[in-house]
Amino acid sequence: MIKRLWLGGFALAFAAAAAAQDYPSRAVTMMVPYAAGGPTDTVARVLAQGMTKPLGQTVVVENRPSAGGILAPQLVKNAKPDGYTILIHHIGMATIPTLYRNAGFDPLADFEYIGLVNEVPMTLIGKPTLPAKDLKELLAYIKANKDKVNLANAGIGAASHLCGLLFLSAIQTDLTTVPYKGTGPAMNDLVGGQVDILCDQTTSTTGQIKAGKVKVYGLTSKKRLASLPDVPTLDEQGLKGAEVGIWHGLYAPKGTPKPVIDKLVAALQQALKDPAVGAKFTELGAVTFPPDQQNPAALQKHLKAEVDKWAPIIKKAGVYAD
Ligand code: ASP
Repeated sequence: MIKRLWLGGFALAFAAAAAAQDYPSRAVTMMVPYAAGGPTDTVARVLAQGMTKPLGQTVVVENRPSAGGILAPQLVKNAKPDGYTILIHHIGMATIPTLYRNAGFDPLADFEYIGLVNEVPMTLIGKPTLPAKDLKELLAYIKANKDKVNLANAGIGAASHLCGLLFLSAIQTDLTTVPYKGTGPAMNDLVGGQVDILCDQTTSTTGQIKAGKVKVYGLTSKKRLASLPDVPTLDEQGLKGAEVGIWHGLYAPKGTPKPVIDKLVAALQQALKDPAVGAKFTELGAVTFPPDQQNPAALQKHLKAEVDKWAPIIKKAGVYAD
């Protein structure tokens, strides 16, 4: 009996090793926690295309939007750990553990790490008909219209929520927030004038700003961007404490075999070396992490550091979701 169990275990381990060696023999699904057309979706699509070549199989982007971006990580946590389902997520992985009493997953325990991808600043933008033409006028407008100005975001845990939180705390004002399942749909409503202001990654806002479809009030980075040279930072306009960079990482379910993770890491690194991927990210204001951070150890370290960085700030703001 013991011998048969032992042999059975051996056969299973052998089958798993063989499967890892053949990996990938079919398409890989990259789950995105927000709606199609938004900034996380854009990064995912550029990266998925870049990883398709080195993997020799298509990387299919699957949007699993939910407010705050908590559904996709739950799904990936519970997916078969075989490398055919992976997750792209942003800074939300670091803020969710503090913001949610029960998010249904633990970013620090339930995943294998693949690597860091890139970092992108946010922009504070407004609907085209907003009368304020710069930050100073916006702050005066908000002060005079506190009860009617609203702020769109992608739910508690989203980057837009975090950025909005920093902005509101910097100006010591509370506004009504309008949550969406991603800032793609929030942007549509902003351009259409249904919501007033939004904080969103340059990955989505660059095109709209350049086309004059939205008003822009500042960047959340320390320095201006080459892709948007005329847009001032919030910091240089005197608004301190709203600095935030939205970084992206790639994850797999816990227990995904090491040889499979190794192949995904190699594909990530190849993709980030691809000039077409680099050019697209630069055009959108994103900065690729250096090669020595495009790996599991660097992502794990960065995630932990970001959890520790944002926890006291979020606790001070006193915002929680269930
Ligand atoms: N920009 C969104 C956020 O606020 C997410 C998205 O739609 O990509 O996190």
